[in-house]
Order: sequence, then structure tokens, then C-alpha cells
Amino acid sequence: MSTYTKEQVAKLADGKLDWDTTMRMLAMPKDNERFSLYVEALQKKVSWADKIVLPLGPHLYIAQNAKSKQWVTKCECGHEFGDYRDNWKLEAVVYVRDTEEAMTEVYPKLMAPDTAWQVYREYYCPSCGTMHDVEAPTPWYPVIHDFEPDIEAFYEEWVGLPVPEKAA
Ligand SMILES: [Zn+2]
Repeated sequence: MSTYTKEQVAKLADGKLDWDTTMRMLAMPKDNERFSLYVEALQKKVSWADKIVLPLGPHLYIAQNAKSKQWVTKCECGHEFGDYRDNWKLEAVVYVRDTEEAMTEVYPKLMAPDTAWQVYREYYCPSCGTMHDVEAPTPWYPVIHDFEPDIEAFYEEWVGLPVPEKAA
């Protein structure tokens, strides 16, 4: 099986590979060295010392709070959104693009959806303003909680590493 060099993994952590490629690389089973290198490289990017448990996006993580050992959703800037099982989007700054004018500010006119059927919801960190996610639901659709990752299974079955300590 091909493995990734430290340099490639550093590139990955710098966001020079797109997110889908990143997750595909990480989803290849039982290469605990690759995952360790990846998390190690991410850990160097962030200014805080809490252990990264799992990256959720290019600038968003599940991290183990160094003091409480609680797993929290955490922005690269250090802002904590709360327990990792809670929907961090409810704690984010939300900007809804629901008019044609607001849509075409950022999305090309022909690609912008009809706002009667679809709006764009953008989720920003309240501390640093980084956009962590964008959804394109129908206007009446509730805020989406993407997934509750089964981190224990991810570590044990995919990565083959011990699960980080977690406060109940
Ligand atoms: Zn932030």
C-alpha cells in the first residue's frame, strides 16, 4: 500500500489538497501512521495545546480539552462551540442568503439558485469570522446536523490507534 510522506501530509494539513481528497486519504483503512502524521501536522497549525481528536473541516476540529478532557468542537482560532455531540452550527454566526441580490454577491448569477426553493446558509466562527460550512437547503428546512461521527469506531476500526481519553 502506498504511504504518504511527511511533506505530503504537511501539504494536506495546509489545506493544499481539497477536503474530499483529504477525507478519501484518511478513509483508507488501517494506516495509523498516515493519520498520526496528519494530526501531528494539524496540531502544529493550531495555536492551542488541546489534542486534536478529529478534523471536521479545513479549520474546524473535535479536540480534547486539555483540562477537562471533554471533547469539544473547536475552531482553529481557539473558539469552542461546545460538546462535540451538540450541533456546533447552533452556536455559530449564521448568514442566510435568501434574496437574489445576496446570492449574486458571491455566487455566479446563472448558478445562483432560485431563492423560493433554495437559500444558502453560511456558518461562521463568532470569534474569528472563518466560514466553516455552507448549506443549500430549501428555505423551511431546519438546521442540518451533518453527522455525529462514531469516533471510537473510526479509531479502532479504521485507524488502528487508541481512542483519546474522553470525559463523560
Ligand atoms: Zn474561529
